[in-house]
Amino acid sequence: MSIVLESDCIDRLEMIRPPYAEADVIWLISEVHLLRDELARKKRHKTDSQRRHRTEGTEYQRSYRQQHPERYLAWGAVKRALKSGRLVRPTVCEKCGRDGLRIEASHDDYSKPLDVKWLCVPCHRGKDGWTSPTTR
Ligand SMILES: [Zn+2]
Repeated sequence: MSIVLESDCIDRLEMIRPPYAEADVIWLISEVHLLRDELARKKRHKTDSQRRHRTEGTEYQRSYRQQHPERYLAWGAVKRALKSGRLVRPTVCEKCGRDGLRIEASHDDYSKPLDVKWLCVPCHRGKDGWTSPTTR
């Protein structure tokens, strides 16, 4: 839309030759204002779609939570245990022994929420049969 407006501006500008009439200057200023409004509207629109995207993310999380409530409860328990010091997140993966990677709590049985294995992200994803988009 702003491109059309801009090319329209250029067409009109080419028609205008000095000396500039007062009406032409007023028109030019109004066109600049229109263009600025148009850009502001676009910016607002982008923010709206970003807000929508965020809502979709929350809805996805909500449906995941409804489908796998035991996982959410288990994760919540681990989170609380880490905070209280009952569980300590190690820095080394229990499976491959790598360190310096993000270590996640892996559940074999979600009904035992604090019975976890500490795995690095690649081992954890591999265990749960999840392949990262980059390794696919
Ligand atoms: Zn590992």
